[in-house]
Amino acid sequence: MRTDQARIVVLGKQGSGKGTQCELLADHFGLVHLATGDLLRAAVRDRTPLGRRAQALMENGELVSDDLVFALLDEELRRAAGRGFSLDGVPRTLAQARALDRHLGDHGLDAAVELDVPGDLVMRRMATRRVCPTCGTLTTAPDPAVATVPCQRCDGTAVARPDDTVDAIARRLALYEEETRPVLDWYEERRLLVRVDGDGDPEEVFGRVLASLEVQLSPAPSPR
Ligand code: ADP
Repeated sequence: MRTDQARIVVLGKQGSGKGTQCELLADHFGLVHLATGDLLRAAVRDRTPLGRRAQALMENGELVSDDLVFALLDEELRRAAGRGFSLDGVPRTLAQARALDRHLGDHGLDAAVELDVPGDLVMRRMATRRVCPTCGTLTTAPDPAVATVPCQRCDGTAVARPDDTVDAIARRLALYEEETRPVLDWYEERRLLVRVDGDGDPEEVFGRVLASLEVQLSPAPSPR
């Protein structure tokens, strides 16, 4: 398989680094990076009808309906036709895993990467992550009490995401355990799951992701 055609989902708790690793995968293999959270935030920011329906749910850390998520995703998958992708944010439930399979058709997923990061570490990452509303760059605050930090890329000011409150973080992590954990087993049964230790700096984790994918993406030896 050509690696620029690879279809990869990245799974992991909120704050586990899915977006960062998807971006690195996209650069490395020449894939399109699709992130449902980013697509939804753009819809909220642009005040589209879909964004208006999603906003309150997102701010409370609840899931948005499958209809809305797949409406956005379908459009992006159509735009990416013929290219591989790294996908983050979907699937979050077994129903979404099945729906994604149907949407992808004959060329299904090639790998599902799980970034394994302990709960206390993701809580700390989310409590200190700040995002620039102008260019989207993530920055880490020195302390959870520091509300804003200068953006490192543009002259904007990075702030906390509206759903990175203590209550919404707790709700999202609970939903991960209830709804997303079974998706990992589902991919494992289909021999697509690749588990990676996600504790470490982004480049170090990416090295592990690549090493695991090398095995997963290489064709199985043909029987003699
Ligand atoms: P996180 O993984 O930290 O919650 P995301 O940026 O992936 O951040 O998602 C932000 C929010 O967008 C989620 O809490 C949820 O409300 C909504 N969302 C994103 N993807 C989905 C999805 N596949 N199904 C339902 N809701 C979603």
